[in-house]
Amino acid sequence: MSRGEKGHLYVVSGPSGAGKSTICRLVRKALGINLATSATTRAPREGEVNGRDYYFLTKEEFLAKEKNGEFLEYATVHGNYYGTLKSEVEARLLHGEDVILEIDVQGGLQVKEQYPDAYLVFFKTATKEELEKRLRGRKTDSEETIQLRLRNSLKELEYEKYYAVTIINNTVEESCAALRKIIEEGRQ
Ligand code: ADP
Ligand code: 5GP
Repeated sequence: MSRGEKGHLYVVSGPSGAGKSTICRLVRKALGINLATSATTRAPREGEVNGRDYYFLTKEEFLAKEKNGEFLEYATVHGNYYGTLKSEVEARLLHGEDVILEIDVQGGLQVKEQYPDAYLVFFKTATKEELEKRLRGRKTDSEETIQLRLRNSLKELEYEKYYAVTIINNTVEESCAALRKIIEEGRQ
């Protein structure tokens, strides 16, 4: 991969609880990559800040932006709308910044259609027991939400074949190193 003048676009997907946010946060920090904040109609979790973790929108606000062509991609995930705003991505790539999108598999394929050079990275745990343990350990979701996310993880795993590479998130250190290597190679 040679960089040219533009930044590279990375898509990170995989079942909820696999560790995408944890690893991407550390890698962004290590490599100086800005967060591309998504929009969602889901309610904020305790401690989440509007404009930082997500742009928290009502369904009406979300659909108005969609109608206005403001989304690069959007999808319904676990019963809520989530979408990537073009304003969080396009200018940064043009200015030579790398962008990491932590989005679901439906969104990942939409991005790949529009940016064929986007590099798709799939995250998963070694076992489904480990996924459940992490979802529970996060202590952010109700039992109903955890069950929904576990059911949906099976569907998400079917999309792994469309991704360029899979990182099995065993240890934080190894997974960070693996993602960093991909992005650093893109910068050479
Ligand atoms: P996702 O963004 O994929 O939904 P999170 O990053 O929120 O997942 O991680 C889910 C939970 O698992 C969090 O509590 C996080 O601290 C923990 N976690 C993430 N990576 C690991 C790992 N390699 N080993 C153990 N726990 C992890
Ligand atoms: P959470 O509710 O845990 O923050 O996110 C749930 C899932 O929504 C994540 O696993 C992530 O894949 C997906 N997601 C977050 N932002 C976006 C987005 O902008 N677009 C799409 N398609 N999915 C997203």
